[in-house]
Amino acid sequence: MSFQQFSLHPHVLAGIKSVGYTQPTPIQQQAIPVVMEGRDGLGLAQTGTGKTAAFALPILHRLSSGPSKRGVRALVIAPTRELAEQIHQAFVELGKHLRIKSVAIYGGVGKGPQLAGLRRGAQVVVACPGRLLDHVDQNDFNLAGVEVLVLDEADRMCDMGFMPDIRRIIKILPSKRQTLCFAATMPEDIRRFTA
Ligand code: AMP
Repeated sequence: MSFQQFSLHPHVLAGIKSVGYTQPTPIQQQAIPVVMEGRDGLGLAQTGTGKTAAFALPILHRLSSGPSKRGVRALVIAPTRELAEQIHQAFVELGKHLRIKSVAIYGGVGKGPQLAGLRRGAQVVVACPGRLLDHVDQNDFNLAGVEVLVLDEADRMCDMGFMPDIRRIIKILPSKRQTLCFAATMPEDIRRFTA
């Protein structure tokens, strides 16, 4: 099985080639077609399975196909800054043949560079919930154009007490959007996000 079968944008395929992936992992085989169709999805996957590319590749395809739009179009929420940075790097590497910008947003560091990234026109935001809400409260950016929401390590976010923040974030997103949820376990709270 190869990545060719997914009908990904040629520049996305070029990104896959440059990072050296030759075959999709099982989670990628299952998730990529669902995400490409624009359907909501729940992915049961541990870190190390290739789950980041399972959502990043179809998101990059979506953003590079069709009419270009400005503003934040994909929002990925992750529990820790290490994970947010890792996901952001995956978007940068897989999207290196595309004109798509990503920014990582998390606490514990200055807001300046993150804001500068947003103002340069990031279409992908990878954020931890607390700092994202700080920016929302300060009207730093607009999430009204978000088409895809990804909750990564959703079970961990649940355990870490982020659910109220996530509910607040979801309330300000357009209701017509695609929602993808990845977790190593699947508690009922999480299933409800894509129900
Ligand atoms: P993740 O589970 O997303 O954290 O990915 C774990 C590791 O697998 C990362 O280093 C990825 O770069 C790598 N990876 C993801 N997809 C593939 C693939 N199809 N082939 C080889 N390595 C991959």
